[in-house]
Amino acid sequence: MKVGFFGGSFDPPHRGHIALARLAIEQLELDRVLIAPVGTQPLKRDQGAATPFDDRVAMVQLAIAGEPRMEVSLVDAPRKDGRPNYTIDTVNELRQTLSPDDTLYCLMGADSFLTIGKWDRAGELLLLCNFVVGSRPGFNLQKVAAALPESVSLAAETGSAPGRLVIGLRGQNGKESRLCLLPDLAEDISATEIRSELRMGRPTSIDPAVAAYIQRHGLYPSKEAGSSVFPG
Ligand code: ATP
Repeated sequence: MKVGFFGGSFDPPHRGHIALARLAIEQLELDRVLIAPVGTQPLKRDQGAATPFDDRVAMVQLAIAGEPRMEVSLVDAPRKDGRPNYTIDTVNELRQTLSPDDTLYCLMGADSFLTIGKWDRAGELLLLCNFVVGSRPGFNLQKVAAALPESVSLAAETGSAPGRLVIGLRGQNGKESRLCLLPDLAEDISATEIRSELRMGRPTSIDPAVAAYIQRHGLYPSKEAGSSVFPG
């Protein structure tokens, strides 16, 4: 089986996330995509508390209703030892739950990939599974190469097809993986923008079921009102 792992804050999940997962499923013929809200994102630790994990899980569940190949996963739940969730630990744990014949693909947006050099044991992680990156305008192979840690370099292009560019990654130890770049996604939105729209009480482009959950649970209150932002 081809299994995708799509980690992130999903605070809240939005159409950009679903668009990337759909495109990866279509382009790489993935059998399953595990969408895994992260307990504590190591690089976002200083940005204040995220929405509670259980609420983010519930919102992902609602956002993927009707997407038969997508599943919400608890593999990146808050750790009992209180440490942040490092993707390399999660991917290693996930691998142990899969069969040796399964191929694992780690999905992310271009903005996340550009920070990969700061990730814990990035060189090891990049060769542990394949990567599928949703491109953004201006994101190209030079930027990919510049983002890689020193121990990993770009190798030959292999497996590209209309709608995707596939390039090898090679470590100093000779280990290889693949990086698949998907074209610019139409949904140019971020959770940060959506949170600020919600706090200002403006309608947003999130799934109506997710919007109803946010309203019901009083998430993302406006600073003035201190409670739910939906009018009426
Ligand atoms: P924030 O603005 O809070 O950083 P985000 O939506 O960018 O929110 P996450 O929820 O952590 O961040 O995103 C999970 C993954 O989805 C990341 O790899 C991110 O790059 C990717 N992603 C986010 N928005 C889009 C989008 N519009 N199109 C494609 N990928 C996206």
